[in-house]
Amino acid sequence: MNHSTEKRRPPRTSLPRAASFRTAGERITTEALLLRKVAYGEADAIVALFTETRGLVSAIARGARKSTKRFGALEPLHLLRVTFEEKGGAELCTLVEATLAAPRLGLLSSLEHMEIASAALQWVRRATPPQVAEPALWADMNALLDSLDGLPESTTARANLATVGLRLLQGAGWGLELSACVRCGRECGPDATACADGAQGGLVCRACGGARWLLRPARRRALQAAMEGDCTLLTNDDAVCAIELVTATLEAHAAH
Ligand SMILES: [Zn+2]
Repeated sequence: MNHSTEKRRPPRTSLPRAASFRTAGERITTEALLLRKVAYGEADAIVALFTETRGLVSAIARGARKSTKRFGALEPLHLLRVTFEEKGGAELCTLVEATLAAPRLGLLSSLEHMEIASAALQWVRRATPPQVAEPALWADMNALLDSLDGLPESTTARANLATVGLRLLQGAGWGLELSACVRCGRECGPDATACADGAQGGLVCRACGGARWLLRPARRRALQAAMEGDCTLLTNDDAVCAIELVTATLEAHAAH
C-alpha cells in the first residue's frame, strides 16, 4: 500500500484502522446445521449452512478435505458450532472452524429417520433466502432432528416432517391456502371435500379445474392444525400427502 496516497485521503470512518478492518471481515460464531457440502478444487469444500443467527450461509472451507482438525465435525444432522468470516458484500464467507455442539448419534441408527432429516434439510436449502435469520424455522428444524434422534421407532416422524414443511412454506411466504380456491377465491366450507395443488398454492375448486390431491374434511383440518404447529391430528397418510404438497410447492417456487 502507498502510504503517502493513503494520508491524503479523508478518513472513511472515525474508527482506528484495526477496527475498520474487523468490520470489513467480521467473524461470527453461531450454531448451525450442515445442508450441503460439495468438493471444491483439490482440498477445499463449499458448504451451505443453516445458522441460528445468519440463516442460510454459503462458505468455503479451505483444506476441509485434508484438515479433520478444524472441519472434522462437518457432517449433516448434528448440531454444529461454526465460526465463519463474513466479508462485506461477498456472498461466499470463509469457514474458520466447525465443532460438534450436540451430536445426534441416535438418528444415524435409523435409515428412515435419516431420510426424513435429509428431506427437511433439503427443503430448508431450497426455501431459505441467504443471510436472513429464521428463528421459527431454526427452532422447528432442531425440534424435528431432536425428535428423530430420541425416538428409535417414532410413529410421528413423518407427521413431524410434514409439519415442519407446511410451516416452512408459510415462513417463506408460500403458505398453502386451504380454506378457499386460489383461483376464484370461493370459500370452501369446513365439511366439504376439496382438491389441492402444491404448485398452485392450495385449494383449486372443481369449477376452476380441480387438482390432484383430494383433501377430505378431516385431512384438511389436520393440515390446518399442523400449520399452527399441532401435528397430533395428522395420520401417516395425511403426512405423506402434506409432504408431497410441500415438495410440489417448493419445486414451483424455489430457484435452486
Ligand atoms: Zn375456483
